[in-house]
Amino acid sequence: MPGMITDIQRFSLNDGPGIRTTVFFKGCNMKCAWCHNPETISKKNELHFYAAKCIGCGRCFEICPQKAHVIVNGVHKIDRNLCIGCGQCAETCYAEALIMSGKAVSAQDVMKEILQDKAYYQNSGGGVTISGGEVLCQKAFALEIIESCHENDINVAIETNLNGPHEAVMDLLGKTDLVMCDIKLLDDDKHKKYTGVSNSIILSNVLKLDRLGIPYIVRTPLIPGISDSNENILSITEFLKPLKHLILYELLNFNPLGAPKYASLDMQYGFGAYTPLPATRLDELQTLVKNAGLPAKIG
Ligand code: SF4
Ligand code: SF4
Repeated sequence: MPGMITDIQRFSLNDGPGIRTTVFFKGCNMKCAWCHNPETISKKNELHFYAAKCIGCGRCFEICPQKAHVIVNGVHKIDRNLCIGCGQCAETCYAEALIMSGKAVSAQDVMKEILQDKAYYQNSGGGVTISGGEVLCQKAFALEIIESCHENDINVAIETNLNGPHEAVMDLLGKTDLVMCDIKLLDDDKHKKYTGVSNSIILSNVLKLDRLGIPYIVRTPLIPGISDSNENILSITEFLKPLKHLILYELLNFNPLGAPKYASLDMQYGFGAYTPLPATRLDELQTLVKNAGLPAKIG
C-alpha cells in the first residue's frame, strides 16, 4: 500500500537515540496552532511558492494545465482553488521558487533508503524514526515499514500524537521499540482551543502505553504564553509521576522556523513574532520537573 510522505531525512541526530533515518508522514489529525511543519498537516500534494527566489521567467505560467499561476495587483500568486498539485510547474522552475511537498511512495521505496545506512544504526544504537504529520493517519503503511525494519534487525521509534482509538493506537505502538509522544496541555479547554481536539483520549492512551511496557518519551512543546507556564508543566509532571516505563520527559523549546513555510503555502501563521524561551527559563522548568522526581531534558 503506498503512503504519502514529505521527506526521508538520513543521518538525523534529533529524532531518538543514535544515528537515525527519519521518515516524515504527510497528514495529521490535529491542528496545533504553532505547528512548525505546516506541509505535513494535509495529506494532499501541496505547492510551496517562495516568492523571493522567483526570477520571473514565466515558465510556470506556460506549463500549468490549470492556469493557477496568476498575477494579482502586479504580484505573482498561486490560485489555490485551481491548483491540483500536479507538480509540473515545480519541475520546470530552475530557480527553486516552486517546491512540491508530498510524494506517494511504497514501503519498499522507503526501505531502499533506510537500508543504505544500516551499518550506522548498528554502530550508533540508532535506527529508524517514523514522524509526521501523524503516523496513525497511515497506520497500515507504517506497519509495513516497521515489519520490514524488524526483519532487517533495525530498531524503530515512532513519534505520535496518540490521538486515535485505543485499539488502533496500541496495535501500532505494540510493534515499535520506542514511542515519543506529546502532552501539550493538561487543561482540556486550552488543548481543544490550540490543537482542535480534546486531550482525554491522548491521556488515556498514555496510561495504556505505560501498561504495554515499551519505553517511551513524553514531550511538551514550550509555546510562549500557552504551554510554558509552571502550572502546565507541573500538572503534566504530576500526571506522569506514577508511570513506570516513561524514560524521559522532554521540554521542547519553541521552534520559530515555520513562518516562511506558512507564507509559501498561503497559510496564516499566528506565531511569527514569537521567540524561543531563554536558557534561564528553560533551566527553571527543567529544575521543576527534576525536583518532582522525573528525568527531564531540554530539547
Ligand atoms: S518558473 Fe519559477 S522562477 Fe519562473 S516565474 Fe515561475 S516561480 Fe518564478
Ligand atoms: S502544481 Fe500543477 S496545477 Fe498547481 S500550479 Fe503547479 S502546474 Fe499548476
